[in-house]
Amino acid sequence: MTRIYLSPPDVGEAERQLLLDAFDSNWIAPLGPHVDGFERDMAERTQIPGALALSSGTAALHLALLLLGVEPGDDVLVPSQTFVATANVVTYVGARPVLVDSDPATWTIDPALVVEELERRAREGRLPAAVITVDLYGQCADYDRILAACADYEVPVLEDAAEALGASYRGRAAGSFGAAGVFSFNGNKIITTSGGGMLVSHDEALIERARYLSTQAREPVVHYEHVAIGFNYRLSNLLAALGRAQLRGLDERVAARKAINEAYRAALADVPGIDFMPWAAYGEPNYWLTCILVDSEAFGAGHEDIRMALEALDIESRPTWKPLHLQPVFADAPTVGGAVAASIFERGLCLPSGSRLESADLERITDTIRDLAR
Ligand SMILES: *Cc1c(COP(=O)(O)O)cnc(C)c1O
Repeated sequence: MTRIYLSPPDVGEAERQLLLDAFDSNWIAPLGPHVDGFERDMAERTQIPGALALSSGTAALHLALLLLGVEPGDDVLVPSQTFVATANVVTYVGARPVLVDSDPATWTIDPALVVEELERRAREGRLPAAVITVDLYGQCADYDRILAACADYEVPVLEDAAEALGASYRGRAAGSFGAAGVFSFNGNKIITTSGGGMLVSHDEALIERARYLSTQAREPVVHYEHVAIGFNYRLSNLLAALGRAQLRGLDERVAARKAINEAYRAALADVPGIDFMPWAAYGEPNYWLTCILVDSEAFGAGHEDIRMALEALDIESRPTWKPLHLQPVFADAPTVGGAVAASIFERGLCLPSGSRLESADLERITDTIRDLAR
């Protein structure tokens, strides 16, 4: 039997065909027709007019912060419970992440804490330069209060939707809520280009400026004239071809992951001490990963016992993101709460959720968990 991974790429004949088409067309260079096409396809899919294909989600976050005017010495509110890239980019521009706790009802950044922190900082005359929201594990953050407060104080929102392509909030696509949004096509995401990202925005001037910075800030003249510091952040044409094929199958991938999530919930419903990441009624997630919370008292074993029992069967599961306020690298970052994110990390486990996961394998996983129960 082969190893079962947490969230492996799901690629097939359609991807192979488009990739070979790109190869045969001789557009091996960065840029080319599939890059433009991938941007058009993403704009259409998300209903966000501006889209820029980049080499990673991290590159997209970095450019977004630069274009939102975040500068050295600024503070940026970031959820503590996220992948480290969300906060790393804040340090790339010389700013400081302020780590905000999760809402237990959604695991995403707590809107009440964001509002309170903005009010407090407004009184003290030190508003953050931006707020980054994360659509965690494929579920949108709770935008209504966050967007209203950020609009009141004129603080731009950057939406890290790296994990959430295909999700929605009150009928609107993930990625569309902030001044800019970011998707990732890393190998473990719901669709992949092996590595890649997309910056999206309703502000097409912002996207054009990002396009310029992402290609070494070349002035439109033949002799390589530069008046700004740029980056080499564009996605290659070959990988964009892969992304276009993947995007065409996005709905099937969301449906497959939703069915997996529902199967886990059904199979473990009567097991004491196992709870699932809550889905809020305000939207529809993309079901990227199925995550559980293990109450070791009630269950009879801890989340690490489950992880090790699965690992013994060559099945990969992973603890939920270790909160950034508990990471040594951010030990000096200011925090706003943190107990909720810490308690999720103490009990949280992400289960194999790949869109090709076989039902027999899912059954092996849930049987293993049930066998450990008291
Ligand atoms: C994956 C991920 C990123 C980074 O995307 P890359 O394409 O790997 O650079 C950023 N934020 C979150 C929340 C992620 O899950």
